[in-house]
Amino acid sequence: MDFLHRQVGLVQKQLAFVATDPVDWKLYVQLFSWGVCLFETYLLLRQYPLYSKKEPPKALAEHFTPEVFAKSQAYGKDKARYAIISGLYKQVIESALLHYGVYAWAWELAGQLTGKFGYTEEYEITQSVVFTFVTYFASSLPTLPLSIYHTFVLEEKHGFNKTTPALFVADLLKGWLLAIVIGAPALSGFLWVFKWAGDHFIPWLMGFLLGFQIIMVIIYPTVIQPLFNKLSPLPAGELRSRTEVLAAKLKFPLKHLYEIDGSKRSSHSNAYFFGLPWSKHIVIYDTLIKQSKPDEVEAVLAHELGHWYYMHPTKLLLVSQVHLFTILALFPAFMHAPPLLRAFDFPKHVAARPPTIISFLLFQMIITPLESVVSIGMNALSRRFEYQADHFACILADKLQSKDMVDIGDRLGRALVQLHVKNLSTVWVDWLYSAYHHSHPTLTERLRALDAFKAKRE
Ligand SMILES: [Zn+2]
Repeated sequence: MDFLHRQVGLVQKQLAFVATDPVDWKLYVQLFSWGVCLFETYLLLRQYPLYSKKEPPKALAEHFTPEVFAKSQAYGKDKARYAIISGLYKQVIESALLHYGVYAWAWELAGQLTGKFGYTEEYEITQSVVFTFVTYFASSLPTLPLSIYHTFVLEEKHGFNKTTPALFVADLLKGWLLAIVIGAPALSGFLWVFKWAGDHFIPWLMGFLLGFQIIMVIIYPTVIQPLFNKLSPLPAGELRSRTEVLAAKLKFPLKHLYEIDGSKRSSHSNAYFFGLPWSKHIVIYDTLIKQSKPDEVEAVLAHELGHWYYMHPTKLLLVSQVHLFTILALFPAFMHAPPLLRAFDFPKHVAARPPTIISFLLFQMIITPLESVVSIGMNALSRRFEYQADHFACILADKLQSKDMVDIGDRLGRALVQLHVKNLSTVWVDWLYSAYHHSHPTLTERLRALDAFKAKRE
């Protein structure tokens, strides 16, 4: 602990200038965020021409009829065009909010609103919660037309949309309600820890956030998800018995096995597990059940159980804790820094005693480029985990000494191809685009790896 405190101290010394020197942070943030946005646009422009190719890669040729391939290319092209336009549009809005000092205005507005209810400036946490809602609406309302377009035009055109306008509005309202019911207390707690722990906030805040994540794991399936989807126990039958046998053989603590009505909104398909270490739930999308045979869904679940077996979620949680620690270790230098707030148009009386929420928001903007690099690293790690989980499924026959499992690698391959075809997923992928955006290897890469695992076993 002492060693860590010393390191944090050294970092703070390096960053001491933030609290004293006037730096044009606003210009930096504008340049950074435009840099990230233009880089992402450049990646899309690299990817875009690949959607004009007339034939799939050789490895996939047998799985795609010319018709399906053409559909997948057209869908990819539309998605890429949408991504370019929406990316630039969002950036213009963010940039305008910064340029016109909307954050400083929102803080004043939040102060006036809370003042009306008798909460004076000492009630920083109350004002911070109101401020967060004001800025949330200021930045998300202008992008609402984008998600309407995405659901009702883009997805609709390619036959994926199942969301009705009524459902769309209901989802939106439920999302806002959740933000108030869960977001507001969580944010208050977060800011309170800063106040209470003072300069030694790092371990306390990490503990608080970890506790919050654990609570979410518990209440998400029981309270939150039922607001949006219906989870029903998977009916008895081949798929249910196959899954139960597989879970039992692997000693996976399966508590509940659900089917989810994902088809209510979209015909994209999936399966996943979640829960606490001693009580896990598996959820399978009704669309996946409809598209694939039970023995193929079983292979998909074997892949998912591979993630559990190698403790991938726990490892990702650990990595995210290290990431969080790094961010929190950098933050104190930005915490009591009047020049930082002045650079973003905050008036002198606010900048003199910077509210934690403001410092944290500005700090997050400043580290955007760092976060892009972290997300590339996280994607690389996640792709590695995907290969490991595929490998796990392939060696199940040896692991469980079970003859029924010998062909599970083939079944997984078939299921992946079907998922890909039904979802009209992109076939040709630019390597740089993929390295930046994809948390999963491409289908061609996965099939090639599955073949290699198989060759090794034989
Ligand atoms: Zn996976």
